[in-house]
Amino acid sequence: MLTLVTSNPAKYAPFAPELERWRITLEAPGEPLPEVQSLHFAETLAAKARAAAQRFGRPVLVDDAGLVLAAYAPFPGPLTATVLRSLGAAGLGRLLHGAPDRATLECHLGAWVNGRLRHWTGRVAGRLDPTRPPRDPRMPLTDWFIPDADAAEPPSPLLHRARALAALERDVWSLHLETAPPAPDAAECPARTNFDCPFCREFQADDQSIFATMMEGRLASRILYEDEHFIVLPPLGAFIPGGLLVLTREHILSLAHLPPELFAPLEKLLQTIRRAVVELWGVPPLVFEHGPAPEWSKGVCCVDHAHLNLFPAPVTVHPHLAGRMSLPLTDLVELRQLRSAEFGYLMVQENDGSRRVFDGRDVPTQLVRRIITRELGLADRWHWRDYPGREELLATYRALQGRLQP
Ligand SMILES: [Zn+2]
Repeated sequence: MLTLVTSNPAKYAPFAPELERWRITLEAPGEPLPEVQSLHFAETLAAKARAAAQRFGRPVLVDDAGLVLAAYAPFPGPLTATVLRSLGAAGLGRLLHGAPDRATLECHLGAWVNGRLRHWTGRVAGRLDPTRPPRDPRMPLTDWFIPDADAAEPPSPLLHRARALAALERDVWSLHLETAPPAPDAAECPARTNFDCPFCREFQADDQSIFATMMEGRLASRILYEDEHFIVLPPLGAFIPGGLLVLTREHILSLAHLPPELFAPLEKLLQTIRRAVVELWGVPPLVFEHGPAPEWSKGVCCVDHAHLNLFPAPVTVHPHLAGRMSLPLTDLVELRQLRSAEFGYLMVQENDGSRRVFDGRDVPTQLVRRIITRELGLADRWHWRDYPGREELLATYRALQGRLQP
């Protein structure tokens, strides 16, 4: 959880849903944070962020806002409140007399992380008219500042703050990760095989496994590929042919817990599968992993067996998850930064190979399967219990048999 320290939480009330989604809570500083006298937001923000981090014992977000007059830039900047208090409307009017009335309203957010300032900015250009009587004399800028007309965004006295928060959004998940306590390096699961796990039972060729029971003897083993570390097989509940699971041989909670040296062989295996799947079904597979649910990550570990789901379905999943905090991913090895598992995740690789990992909070069971089956017009097939997909499984097995060797 991240904290945004502000002496005026009301300024953020309109952004409550976003802050909730980004797992940011508001807190008052107790005693006021130091206000350094400087014309540069980077300096005032650094001092504030540093002091706040010290006070809270961890990096926290702080903010600053103000006006920059084009005629006197960067003045008054962080000194805006002081200048407004001392000059008032009349003084500002004299200051702008004969000078351009152009101005920028700025909001800055910052956090002191690993000995340096992380900084996000929102700016709104406009002009200043101190002849307008302010409705609230304590906040005259709300009436004096007239933002330029922008077709994309309606004028609002909150726009500079909204833009600073939008800039923060792009980094918010990495900020969570950078400020989280370090992840334990040792695997938390003591057992390499878990006999409560259906996959582990199946790999032990247990004829009571869910797979053996469901197939009623029609296929002795569905394993298409196996090596020391990975196993590939078609899943139960395959709603289309070509569906596959890539599993770790060992019982680990999620790919975030895979040892770093195994990601290169995993990526290579995925390439091999991709080639074979494109040849057979004409669509590069959509790949996804439901990382562990957050409540499983603490204490009750070992309930999940890490696996990637692959389906040659021409569906774009990202837009359906757009409301969630997310992070682009290049290599799967980057999933390891999520293994502290403060929250669960959802990793999606689209048909074009682009990857993104999403906040797994409140993810309904089989969410990505639901999205794909709905988009394919097969909504009644989303759950494997209702749609075991035996024929698809057999078709996939027969088509790919012997084709996944590197
Ligand atoms: Zn297992």
